Amino acid sequence: MKIFKNKHTLQKEILKTKGTSFVPTMGGLHKGHISLIKQAKKSKFKTLVSIFVNPKQFNKKSDFRSYPRNTKRDIKLLKRLKIDYLYIPRFKDIYGFRPKNKIFLDKFSKKLCGKFRKGHFEGVLNVVNRFIDIIKPRYIFLGKKDYQQLFLIKKHIEKRKIKSKIIECNTIREINGIACSSRNSRLDKNQMKIASNIYHYLRKLKKKIKKDYSFFNISKIKKDLIDLGASKIDYLENYNIKNFKLIKKRSKQFNLFIAYYIKNIRLIDNI
Ligand code: AMP
Repeated sequence: MKIFKNKHTLQKEILKTKGTSFVPTMGGLHKGHISLIKQAKKSKFKTLVSIFVNPKQFNKKSDFRSYPRNTKRDIKLLKRLKIDYLYIPRFKDIYGFRPKNKIFLDKFSKKLCGKFRKGHFEGVLNVVNRFIDIIKPRYIFLGKKDYQQLFLIKKHIEKRKIKSKIIECNTIREINGIACSSRNSRLDKNQMKIASNIYHYLRKLKKKIKKDYSFFNISKIKKDLIDLGASKIDYLENYNIKNFKLIKKRSKQFNLFIAYYIKNIRLIDNI
């Protein structure tokens, strides 16, 4: 595994290859990331993983500062996975140039997380657009755990006629049901249990509203979630994941999207 901190040396290396399968991450690697990397490794291109905690997608400085980082451990893990390239850029390497494409923000970027984390998706697209400019990957592997960002990145790529292909990867969960996330490392045992109970509650709820939409009684559900130990709920809404249309009546094709807090830890999921 070769490690790069500078885009020019990375580009020189990539030029020698047929192309790359790219897995962008913010580090704090877990089973979710590993499954993306394993899928990337199956492609015929070189596997390139990046670790960059992108300050522009955090709407609170304190959240950026407390984001879990463990680069030494991540490097060890990536070596074991035998990826080809690891790119760990500094801020200037990413933000010190003007990318070819302007970012395209679909109107969905104002919904759900976009509504509650002002500037978040703009920050995500800004960094992804820059990574694409530097790397020009053949494939980009993204997790459905962050389906909203995946959808917006797809829209950007379509609109700007970028040649990279997005590969959508399933959400990997802990045995207790919680979606793997770097932020889970901040949960204590009791908070894990709360998150797990909330996951199981939502699974049951989804089954019920598939049969009878009147079970989607948002004030009762929010009360139940608070009783289960959530501190605050940003949103709980049903969307068709093909076109991101809001669901308001009984439907077969939808995901339940949630963002909630346990104390000051914000968790998102879609079920
Ligand atoms: P992050 O490091 O949180 O920015 O995530 C990097 C990539 O890993 C994104 O494409 C995420 O959607 C994906 N990812 C994060 N958690 C999971 C998970 N539990 N299952 C599958 N993919 C995930």
